[in-house]
Amino acid sequence: MFSRYKFEKINMNNKELLQQENSKVHQEVIEANATYAESFGEKSNLALPPSRKFAILTCMDARLDPAKYAGLSEGDAHVIRNAGGRASDDAIRSLVISHKLLGTAEWFVIHHTDCGMEYFTDEIIRDLLAKSLSTASVDENGWKNVTEEGGSNEAKHISFLTISNQTESIIDDVKRIKSHPLVPSYIPVYGYIYDVKSGKLIEIPEATKVGRAN
Ligand SMILES: [Zn+2]
Repeated sequence: MFSRYKFEKINMNNKELLQQENSKVHQEVIEANATYAESFGEKSNLALPPSRKFAILTCMDARLDPAKYAGLSEGDAHVIRNAGGRASDDAIRSLVISHKLLGTAEWFVIHHTDCGMEYFTDEIIRDLLAKSLSTASVDENGWKNVTEEGGSNEAKHISFLTISNQTESIIDDVKRIKSHPLVPSYIPVYGYIYDVKSGKLIEIPEATKVGRAN
């Protein structure tokens, strides 16, 4: 189950190393932004509403770049991201604003293969957090805390919206969006899974069927 994880990355828990790494990243981001802003050019004239009038709800996974996999430029579309690309209350809040005030007229829900949300349950993450807030480690036996100090039981109030079956989660999320009282029935919602091994978007026909405009 955990074999596809890059252990050396997720097991990074030495605080010193983490702080050094953060400071390097901090600097890199600021430098990258300076370069980006140098050739900002015409983008300063972009309108606030997305010009291609659509929105994508997708996972925060670092391997997914919606601008690349869906061919977006600045100003084209709304991209709403969270863990799993789930239709949480907050994702729906954004989609409602996206249509009602900013004119998007079709929405994509895009989950992906090998999603981190398939590798734990509410119970697992609640137990881990109850004992420690530090990054946990994972191996073939599952997750475990590296230290056990300073945890919190607050996670029992959070539904983490984990995924046990990608096809079902896509259909559930499209259904939830389509049946929401603040979502007009004329908005089509398309359901796809992004394959992290090929970069391809694979349609989930049942989700798109549930999500069709009417
Ligand atoms: Zn994911």
